[in-house]
Amino acid sequence: MLKFEDFTPRQMRDLSSVLGVLKKKVRDRRLPRDFGSLLADILARTGEQVCVTFRGNEGSCGVKTKPGQETKSFTLGSNQIFICQKAFTAKHDGKPRLGAILLHELVHTRGGLELDAETFENLLFRGEGARPPDRRDYARFREQDSPGAGRRGAGIQGTWVLMNPRTKEVTDKKIGRHVIHFRPRRRDR
Ligand SMILES: [Zn+2]
Repeated sequence: MLKFEDFTPRQMRDLSSVLGVLKKKVRDRRLPRDFGSLLADILARTGEQVCVTFRGNEGSCGVKTKPGQETKSFTLGSNQIFICQKAFTAKHDGKPRLGAILLHELVHTRGGLELDAETFENLLFRGEGARPPDRRDYARFREQDSPGAGRRGAGIQGTWVLMNPRTKEVTDKKIGRHVIHFRPRRRDR
């Protein structure tokens, strides 16, 4: 379950509305099974609690990992998300980013790496505020890649997904099923 702290009533209205959208998307889309059940659990009233706290005008959105150690780029699970002021006004292609940002950080709280967070953000919010990965994101995917364990075929590894570095196709790491193309061919868009 998500617990929201220090937001204004107006921000809470925005958050409730994107949360409603997110819950529906999670029900309707096929996600890698392990990740899907972790996400459904924190979105459910009875599930594990994750705190979402307003950070104010300073700083950026992110996930707290351990006391005193906080990072946006390399996260191994947490029950604390920070949402900054910018998240409420940020847009991509004219669409508000709040839902995409909230999901992105939720993925990190379950132990998702940058590749996982970008994958599910773009899978669920493409055309609705998701930002496709940029050059810095691809560099981070590579940085966080862990060759070896559990690898199925060649590719850059996240916690639940695998990306073909040439085609930018992302697949479910366990069963090899297609998840998303970061660079869809024109006719797929
Ligand atoms: Zn991230």
